[in-house]
Amino acid sequence: MSKRIYGDEYGFQTRAVHTGNDVDSETGAIKRPITMANSYELPYDPTDVNWSSAAGNLYTRNGGSNQKYLQEKLASLEGGEDCVVLASGVAALSGLFFALLQSGDHVIFSSVTYIAVYRLLNELFNNKFHVETTIVDTSDLDAVRTAIRPNTKLIHIETPGNPTLTISDISAIADIAHEKGALLSVDNTFASPFNQRPIELGADFTIESLTKYINGHGDAMGGAIIGKTEYLDIIRAQSQINLGGTISPFNAWLIMRGSVTLPLRMRQHNENALKVAKWLEAQPCVSFVAYPGLERHKGHETAVKQMSPGFGGVLSFGLKADHDTHNRFVSCLKVITSAVSLGHDESLIVFLGENDERQYLYPEEFHNGFFRFSVGIEDVEDIIEDLRQALKTVGLL
Ligand SMILES: *Cc1c(COP(=O)(O)O)cnc(C)c1O
Repeated sequence: MSKRIYGDEYGFQTRAVHTGNDVDSETGAIKRPITMANSYELPYDPTDVNWSSAAGNLYTRNGGSNQKYLQEKLASLEGGEDCVVLASGVAALSGLFFALLQSGDHVIFSSVTYIAVYRLLNELFNNKFHVETTIVDTSDLDAVRTAIRPNTKLIHIETPGNPTLTISDISAIADIAHEKGALLSVDNTFASPFNQRPIELGADFTIESLTKYINGHGDAMGGAIIGKTEYLDIIRAQSQINLGGTISPFNAWLIMRGSVTLPLRMRQHNENALKVAKWLEAQPCVSFVAYPGLERHKGHETAVKQMSPGFGGVLSFGLKADHDTHNRFVSCLKVITSAVSLGHDESLIVFLGENDERQYLYPEEFHNGFFRFSVGIEDVEDIIEDLRQALKTVGLL
């Protein structure tokens, strides 16, 4: 018996468990299998087959079964019509930009975004393809309005933004974009669909790095674009089938498995990060803490309006210390790992900052080096104790 669960008559957690899964019709297994085959059997007469089609099962670059299962689930969790999953978050970002933008189009993007957005739009797309770009502090709605041009095709924002946790108002920017005939894409990686669903707030596209919270276990890379089929069919044809940024079936399967516990993990990330942010805020050696769940955060009011039930697991903070003390502090950590990426089960910290070419785009407090801290789902007492003992060892407590 088939038990396909899609609709929003079911809760988020029920859909995280069930959507995209079904009983395997051949074996009766209650989990769909991984299909690692590159090709699927052709019909008796294949002369009418469109070799560049994503419809049906033909060739795994055009779309395989495990990708499709994951797409069903993510479209449902994000409240969107359709989804394309690709090999990484950056494949999703570049896939969206490549399929949507033409020479002569103008793009506005947030001053705080994942570094690849800056490289893609501000270096590659404008130099190679003559796409015009404007970098805007999209937490300032007047600045967004002022930056719009008659040829503005897309506004791309990231909220909370990586790495400063800057908050932009999704529904207000969707209104500004749509009034001028532009589209809005939102990188939702820091929040995850558990805390924020941009399409329900008026965005045209949601981007997720599945590498982060949605997989959540730090062992597979993937990316997703969620939106209307009308656009996603173009992205599928151009960016998946022709550019070839297809996800492997194994990674799609791992992410499908990881995403089952997204709601449980996110609750713990939300709770731990808020506790850690409050603890850090109370330490005299900490120069600032950026976390949208803190009342003093500049974007707190907007975050409360568009994020629920929590504010995610990533925060940034600074120390009143010199360069080497920052590195020594990290070397003293025992529970928290020094590594890039975020949204893993374990706590990850990275010292960023002093030589970042985009620093001029960040708020002042970020200019002397800072930590991006992805608070994991360990016991929060152990995370705080780890920070405390490391600060003490380097003489800051
Ligand atoms: C990590 C990240 C990406 C890129 O994702 P990959 O899976 O590493 O390619 C995009 N956006 C944000 C906000 C990220 O944190």
